[in-house]
Amino acid sequence: MKHKDTKNSRRAFLKKSVSGLAGIAILPSVMQRDVMAQEEQKLKKRKIITRTLGRTGLELPIVSLGVGNVQNPELVKAALDAGVKMLDTANSYGRGRNEEMIGEIIKGRPRDSFVIATKVTGAEDRRTGLFRKEATSEMFREKFETSLGRLGLDYVDILYIHSVVRKESVVYEPFLSAMLKLKKEGKVRFLGVSTHANEPEVIRAAAESKVHDVVLTAYNFRQPHVAEVEKAMAEAAKAGLGIVAMKTQAGVFWDPERQNQINMKAALKWALRKEYVHTSIPTMATFDQLEEDMSVMEELELTPVDKKDLQLGARLGVPGLYCRQCGECKTQCREDLDIPILMRSYMYVYGYRNLASAKEALASVDLPTAPCNGCGTCAVTCSMGFDVRAKIEDIARLQLVPDEFVV
Ligand code: SF4
Ligand code: SF4
Repeated sequence: MKHKDTKNSRRAFLKKSVSGLAGIAILPSVMQRDVMAQEEQKLKKRKIITRTLGRTGLELPIVSLGVGNVQNPELVKAALDAGVKMLDTANSYGRGRNEEMIGEIIKGRPRDSFVIATKVTGAEDRRTGLFRKEATSEMFREKFETSLGRLGLDYVDILYIHSVVRKESVVYEPFLSAMLKLKKEGKVRFLGVSTHANEPEVIRAAAESKVHDVVLTAYNFRQPHVAEVEKAMAEAAKAGLGIVAMKTQAGVFWDPERQNQINMKAALKWALRKEYVHTSIPTMATFDQLEEDMSVMEELELTPVDKKDLQLGARLGVPGLYCRQCGECKTQCREDLDIPILMRSYMYVYGYRNLASAKEALASVDLPTAPCNGCGTCAVTCSMGFDVRAKIEDIARLQLVPDEFVV
């Protein structure tokens, strides 16, 4: 499927999303406004599929919005107007700008018309995946209070420990005590963890913890270990956890040249076909993507074309952009590079066109300018078939771009 890039505007999205507006352009502007207002009302009354987010009791449309890669506030407003209820962000996204943008958007909207989820994390030991001693209760709380201020809210609906990879981190006492205190104070309604790697272990630990209410997990049709992820999600949902899926569209493109886009709609439908996946937070960087994702809120059935499109990578013989973050490459690299982070940065650039997040990820690993120059042949074999060295050499160039060029 070729990538299309149509005019980005909230109004254009609305026009394309409603039926019977073919002749609107020939109407006088005052009548256009009336017609659009009526159609906006109709849009709100669409038959949207909803599911209950486990024991939180929150009734949510199956499509929510991962705001992390969104830079245009009009897109978020259009999503809310089209029926999206939950907005997902994090303390670290855009160094706080993402939460500030959401704060501006929700200002003046009734508090019960939206659900806000944010995430906080602390320093991690990259080798073990465990939190370091600097990750204290005080630090966690301070970061959360900053998030609350940026959002302009008295409370958030869901607070996650961000990007957990080990079961020990799910119940990391300094963070749990801070979270439970915040919940008691009414600043957080529900607690959870998010995970991009080692998902089955993290999901099971969250369910066993009896503290967490929600788990946000990577889940898509490209995961080699998808059966294990599904088993863990099904068990956790049975135990009462709310299940939110992310990375559903597996890197958006099959190729870094962006010639072959993943069928986003098909990928999202695929992730939502199991009832225990209560909602999803696909990334939507354009109004085209928003339109595609919104249509999934009403129709989940995979068509024969959808099914065929999901196999396109195999037909093209390309591994795609999605790194499952398994970490198997870490011990193979002679220079001890944090390859999963570098692969994530690569996906941010070529899949999401989010240079700021890509640069932030690079900055977190202290990468030499020419990281692979000392190696003859690469010692790494990636389970997803990536040419790891080529990707690292490519993405390392981003370090040379000044920060002010990518905000
Ligand atoms: S680059 Fe390959 S081996 Fe390394 S974490 Fe990603 S999928 Fe796993
Ligand atoms: S070529 Fe790069 S990725 Fe491969 S082993 Fe050497 S330093 Fe590691």
